[in-house]
Amino acid sequence: MKNNQLVEKIIEKIFCISDFKLNQKIVLHEPYFKNTNALKYAKECINSGWVSSAGKWVENFEEKICAYTGSRYAVAVSNGTVALRLALFISGVKSSDEVIIPPFSFIATANAVSHLGAIPHFVDIEPNRLGLSPAALQQRLEEISERKNGLIYNKLTGRRIAAVIPVHVFGNPLKIIEIKKICDHWKIPLIEDAAEALGSWVKSENSIKHCGTFGKASIISFNGNKIISTGGGGVLITDSFSLAKKARHLSTTAKIPHKWEFEHDEIGWNDRLPNINAAIGSSQMEILDKRLESKRKLFEKYSEIFKDIKEIELVREEENCISNNWLISIRLKGDNKKNLKIMRNEILNYAHTKNILLRPSWNLINTFKMYKKNPSGELKIAEDQVYRIINLPSSPQLIDL
Ligand SMILES: *Cc1c(COP(=O)(O)O)cnc(C)c1O
Repeated sequence: MKNNQLVEKIIEKIFCISDFKLNQKIVLHEPYFKNTNALKYAKECINSGWVSSAGKWVENFEEKICAYTGSRYAVAVSNGTVALRLALFISGVKSSDEVIIPPFSFIATANAVSHLGAIPHFVDIEPNRLGLSPAALQQRLEEISERKNGLIYNKLTGRRIAAVIPVHVFGNPLKIIEIKKICDHWKIPLIEDAAEALGSWVKSENSIKHCGTFGKASIISFNGNKIISTGGGGVLITDSFSLAKKARHLSTTAKIPHKWEFEHDEIGWNDRLPNINAAIGSSQMEILDKRLESKRKLFEKYSEIFKDIKEIELVREEENCISNNWLISIRLKGDNKKNLKIMRNEILNYAHTKNILLRPSWNLINTFKMYKKNPSGELKIAEDQVYRIINLPSSPQLIDL
């Protein structure tokens, strides 16, 4: 098929998904509050006067996150980026340490590292699920690391490698069991960026675990475009009592509880999720299963309509994984690498003229000027995948209201 024919065919197919109204903009992912208790709970919260960083809704929301994910502890904070910075900090990441991350992620993964004065170190992804590659991680560690006093150092830079942050890209679980094995072997703390992965699971021999429950501490985001939203918000999850306690303390200005005294024992942050956002979050947790179900149906529909276009494939969950289908993506096949970016841009361009706001994947983080000179392994897979991926409109309300 010629490029322009392919482009038209793809867009024509997307129109089959839903009875889109003419001139209606079809966006990538929209939050949903209609027919939910969002307003009711927010009103209750306002009427109580407890709208800020204390109140029963924060606790209620955290309990719901624990019950859903199976994590022992949850600390709700103001967004996913802050949650990640906090997870790194309580795991012992310090200024001038290196933290291994994939280049194929939202920039927040790198920024959270930088906010502590630490340095993102890029390691390649694996082509199917687009998450950090266990083989590349193992190889990179073998190439560069040396052990001193039980800690792992990058012998090229002399800096400590203080954590690894794999990312469950678009909600698709990465090879977390293999990554965890490697991190355990090298004794490097594992922190999962599960910002996009609420409702995503990984099966092993006789258990099933939620994404984010493999790491020492992990994070989920509730930004407006995520699968459920608190307006803005995030949560740190962990099974460790002492880490959760530390996170809670540091995220509330490290204030020592007392009836009236203002006593603080560390330099803390003001990171806690406001009660009013948590109230909305509690109402969103009530519709999570319904949204996941609709998303699965949407994925199946896309799968059906694209099955006869040989030039593309859908990015799919692999065996033993359950994806929340947060962003459903097509991958351009073919070996003509020069043509890929052109074809991708033609598809994006044409789709936007038809008001279907398709989005490319993020540009690789290591290509941004702030991160260009960072330590990095070979990034061949990420460089190849980046122009192949196009995200489709993925709101559950496209097929179900
Ligand atoms: C959304 C997102 C974040 C950050 O979450 P915010 O709540 O927007 O700060 C971090 N990592 C990834 C992969 C994300 O998609």
